[in-house]
Amino acid sequence: MSFASLGLSDALLQAISEQGYETPSPIQAEAIPAVLEGHDVMAAAQTGTGKTAGFTLPILEKLIDGQPAQANQARVLILTPTRELAAQVGESVSLYGKHLPLRSAVVFGGVKINPQMMRLRRGVDVLVATPGRLLDLYNQKAVRFTQLEILVLDEADRMLDMGFIHDIRKILALLPKNRQNLMFSATFSDEIRSLAKTMVNNPVEISVTPKNAAAKTVEQSLYPVDKAKKTALLIKLIKEQQWQQVLVFTRTKHGANRLTKKLESQGITASAIHGNKSQGARTKALAQFKEGTISTLVATDIAARGLDIDQLPQVVNFDLPNVSEDYVHRIGRTGRAGATGHAVSLVCADEFKLLKDIERLTKQVIERKPVEGFEPVHPLPDSKLDTRPFKAKKPKKPKNKAANPGHQDGQRSGDVARGHKPTGKNRRHAGKTTNTSDGAPKPQRNRNRSRTASNSTPK
Ligand code: AMP
Repeated sequence: MSFASLGLSDALLQAISEQGYETPSPIQAEAIPAVLEGHDVMAAAQTGTGKTAGFTLPILEKLIDGQPAQANQARVLILTPTRELAAQVGESVSLYGKHLPLRSAVVFGGVKINPQMMRLRRGVDVLVATPGRLLDLYNQKAVRFTQLEILVLDEADRMLDMGFIHDIRKILALLPKNRQNLMFSATFSDEIRSLAKTMVNNPVEISVTPKNAAAKTVEQSLYPVDKAKKTALLIKLIKEQQWQQVLVFTRTKHGANRLTKKLESQGITASAIHGNKSQGARTKALAQFKEGTISTLVATDIAARGLDIDQLPQVVNFDLPNVSEDYVHRIGRTGRAGATGHAVSLVCADEFKLLKDIERLTKQVIERKPVEGFEPVHPLPDSKLDTRPFKAKKPKKPKNKAANPGHQDGQRSGDVARGHKPTGKNRRHAGKTTNTSDGAPKPQRNRNRSRTASNSTPK
């Protein structure tokens, strides 16, 4: 299949070919025609599947026709949970739309609001936003939605994890009823489905297996070590194994800063990325990491979400995450696109309970590789696989504070059931699906649905 056969214009095809893309990824092959036809879409897809182009390309195609945006209006609104993801989606919009006369803007918290207000004055065709800042801009009358044609909710599960549900509901209430809705989420928990019910109408459902499916391509190992010796062990590993590009996870922002300083003092080029860093510093660190100017990026879980870093060879868990599902997300950053990745965890005795939970969730005991000279004084007990089924935790009520995307780190508000990887590659209609125990819908194909029931605005 080619991009041309999906019905995209020459200006978009040219931008796609300049990116070096030859064939549409599975989600693109499914989503592009569905969006072009004007359907609402609900897609189970993670970062790494090509989902951004999957919604951006057909949206840009649809924007070519129609009235240009008037003052302070946005024709398409793309909501993302984090600033990084907003910036990345914004870059994709600019990249794919570079041969089109369309205007776009990216707005998020943690930076001055005035330049964003100025940018919105003439109106934009595409607005990419985090929820808190969008509401601030709306309250200051900098943005209006009377011309809104399409709403995209990207990484909906993370939005809910981060406590944005109230902001999302407020935003939905501001939008015109007659619009097209696209919802992307890595997982489809009951909570996501209940949000979907209020948002999408008779959607086409798409589910793709991510090409970075962790289990297949990630070698996992564990280094038992005392807490006090973790930094020295990490330095030894980076130097001896000559890791050129390594993403290191710490549990706290201070831990990330401390570790970065120690690595730098040993001649390792490193940067920390977390919620206390300015947006400029975070963007710069990510760019340097991608181009290879720095070898080590030290990140907290929330700051790392949605980072688009291709084919990362090495992930290190300097601390194990408190939430087992985050382990799966962390190691999913390596071994993309069929390349083998390595995920190593430095684990001290205090973390044994977290380790047991992770091994229970992933249904495997992680291979241990003791390092000479780093044998722990406080031994890590042996793991025995706990085979009891893992119960999904009930989502906690979101904290109000978490609604501010400028202060994301450390403000998780409970967990929706995660780690349920979507399987298969089926395009389905929600109106004809039933929930299975893993939260995935059972496919029942029906293409002859009445379009009059939809609130889409096909063009
Ligand atoms: P996403 O899942 O949207 O975060 O995209 C993951 C990566 O895949 C990005 O770096 C894209 O540039 C790249 N990508 C998207 N679509 C294609 C394609 N059809 N062929 C090759 N690479 C792609």
